[in-house]
Amino acid sequence: MTRTAQQPTRRRVPQSFPYVLMYHSVSEYTDDPYLVTVEPARFERQLRWLRARGCTGVSMRELLAARRAGRGRGLVGLTFDDAYTDFADTVHPLLRRYGWTATVFVISGMMGGHNDWDPAGPRKSLMTEDEVARVAAEGMEIGSHSVGHRRLTELDPVELAAEVGKSRPVLQALSGQPVNGFCYPYGAVDAAAVGAVREAGYGYGCAIWRCEFSGPHALPRTYVGDRDGALRLDAKRVRHGLTATRAAEIPAPRFLRFR
Ligand SMILES: [Zn+2]
Repeated sequence: MTRTAQQPTRRRVPQSFPYVLMYHSVSEYTDDPYLVTVEPARFERQLRWLRARGCTGVSMRELLAARRAGRGRGLVGLTFDDAYTDFADTVHPLLRRYGWTATVFVISGMMGGHNDWDPAGPRKSLMTEDEVARVAAEGMEIGSHSVGHRRLTELDPVELAAEVGKSRPVLQALSGQPVNGFCYPYGAVDAAAVGAVREAGYGYGCAIWRCEFSGPHALPRTYVGDRDGALRLDAKRVRHGLTATRAAEIPAPRFLRFR
């Protein structure tokens, strides 16, 4: 049978993405212009909220493996971008109390430094190499958040390949574990960036919003902030479920500039 111009276009099949939360920093604060910090007490209430709804927080490594085995129900991926020192000091001890794990995305060229990519706001320290190695040894998954936290969509092909690829062996050697995940700085994703992540051998990628590039190498996540109490978390969970299965582009909230 010959195809004709009148043949209807095939509809894109919606994909089902896992339930994944995106955090950055958990600490006390007075100034947080980019809305990336959650107070520890609030964070613990959010963990309790998840547990009360039958959810268990796990790293992306565990979440994706469980889904492949058909055991993903009730699991939520917990991800922490930038690898702030408070992941080692505050997040990790809290997660241990729950028996939960998480994925922390480390900037391989900035360990022991600060969030120098932020033009304003408080300087926040980043985990040292020793701290990254320690949390990895205690069950946390280490993922890559590039070498230098540059916006990948603005790089030429050589710079792009280096930013994405060079962090992986560094973090693997440091953590003693395969580094299978990549997280896009600023959530900036395009076809070249996704291609570079796949080319560098990563098994999955974490983006922020559902978009035309969404897939295993650009998984959408739900932002959680310090204003998110039970009602807002309920709403966001429903929204995550809807956007994760709907073949539509979800615009990024303009007031948020993710790191
Ligand atoms: Zn970041």
